[in-house]
Amino acid sequence: MMIIMREGAAERDIEHVIEKVKELGIDVHISAGPFLTVIGLVGDTTKARDLPLATFPGVERVVPILKPFKLVGREFHPSDTLVDVRGVKVGGNNFVVIAGPCSVENRDGYLDIARFVKKTGAHMLRGGAFKPRSSPYSFQGMGEEGLKIMVEARNETGLPIVTEVMDARDVDLVAEYADVLQIGARNMQNFTLLKYVGQSQKPVMIKRGLSSTIEEFLMAAEYVISGGNENVILCERGIRTFETYTRNTLDLSCVPLVKRLSHLPIIVDPSHGVGRWDIVEPMSVASVAVGAHGLMIEVHPNPEEALSDGYESLKYDNFESLMKNVKQAARVFGKGI
Ligand code: PEP
Ligand code: MN
Repeated sequence: MMIIMREGAAERDIEHVIEKVKELGIDVHISAGPFLTVIGLVGDTTKARDLPLATFPGVERVVPILKPFKLVGREFHPSDTLVDVRGVKVGGNNFVVIAGPCSVENRDGYLDIARFVKKTGAHMLRGGAFKPRSSPYSFQGMGEEGLKIMVEARNETGLPIVTEVMDARDVDLVAEYADVLQIGARNMQNFTLLKYVGQSQKPVMIKRGLSSTIEEFLMAAEYVISGGNENVILCERGIRTFETYTRNTLDLSCVPLVKRLSHLPIIVDPSHGVGRWDIVEPMSVASVAVGAHGLMIEVHPNPEEALSDGYESLKYDNFESLMKNVKQAARVFGKGI
């Protein structure tokens, strides 16, 4: 961290900053030019982050040098993390496809989708039992009954199941059934929930918040890992912008950036990312090209009747087409699928 003092800052202001920093046990390196004095903090400067240095008299600007995340960063962990979900390895050179409906709606319908996506080559099953709906009057999910249906589908197909946990009070319950605990975009900064899933050993998939920066996204993962759970998968699912033709703007630049900054696997959810079924396939192929470790795709045999997110769900033939092209792209980019 560097503290840049104002031009002509009083000596006592400079001394005050140095004294406060040293009180925290941090060393300083002073560079006094003809106009400006720059105070460099040396060593572990973590503690200085809580000091409101920018408000100190005479301070012009505070420039952080170290990244705020440690455990998720590549600096301390250069090799890729592989998250093992019941034998399915997420990360590295593998490409995994998670597919299923937005919500578990009923037993027979869910089992049918599960059988279909398995046959078409998906590696994991998705489905919401606790749904984060914008309206309290919309379908809220089947709750524990939905989780039981997912387990039945796993038993039959062998596919691990991914489902959202919305509330810290439900973590133990959902972890009894699920193979991956999904943290939804709206909960990405629910720090209590992040701490709770950090105490579980189940893999956690964190979806990027609707208005979150990449740094905030990584800090959410830092919460989970610092809580003791290293099995974290990140998921880019689009962010809010001014564009109205899509539900969100799918930020594919996030993928190679996150791969530079972090060792954690990152997958893409183009279904929520664009919110319209007709461009899910091209964005999926693009996700392979930018280096994603996988995809999460919403599939429904009859989107018109879906209880949630029908407009972005792929019918069976469209999912088949997506899988065919994604497999081809994965071969071109040397990914194992
Ligand atoms: C979902 O995957 O069902 C979901 C609600 O996604 P998001 O949290 O990204 O909106
Ligand atoms: Mn959905």
